[in-house]
Amino acid sequence: MPRRSRGGLELGSTGACAGRLAMATDEAKTDEVPAFWCDAMLGGLARWLRAAGYDAAWVEGIDDAELVRRALASGRILLTADTELARHGAIRSGRIRAVLIPAGKTKFEQLRYVAQALSLTCRQPRCMACGGRLRPIPKDAARPEVPPRTFNWCDEFFRCRRCAKVFWRGTHWHRISARLDAL
Ligand SMILES: [Zn+2]
Repeated sequence: MPRRSRGGLELGSTGACAGRLAMATDEAKTDEVPAFWCDAMLGGLARWLRAAGYDAAWVEGIDDAELVRRALASGRILLTADTELARHGAIRSGRIRAVLIPAGKTKFEQLRYVAQALSLTCRQPRCMACGGRLRPIPKDAARPEVPPRTFNWCDEFFRCRRCAKVFWRGTHWHRISARLDAL
């Protein structure tokens, strides 16, 4: 899970994964990229998906009926670890595309399972908090929202277009990036 550090979550994009991402930033193709709704048990998977560059929605405690309604309305792929939910009529009829995550997996193993099931590759990292797209911001613009020590050593900052949180490349991200390289 990302470490919250005052002004924002630490984020970065070094490593081979990020290198591949740099060559795959064609925004015109955004619509083809799958987006997800994660069930109430899969908050950790949602964060990993965002780190891997996918828009994954998750609401703590959301009930199945509401989850199905939102998945139908959004057209997002439903990810669930609930075998009962996976038998829902909207899924069986194909109105909702869904992936049933096998039990007993760690969050990262869940990510690997989804990535293999849907042939996902790492993309530009998204906001770990909400899944929004990140845009670079001038260093001065980040100053009020970043701890002074971080501001001193870091020169690149990003803001989520959706929730406005500020991110930077920190040590936590290096660990995330290394894990994603092994995806
Ligand atoms: Zn956000």
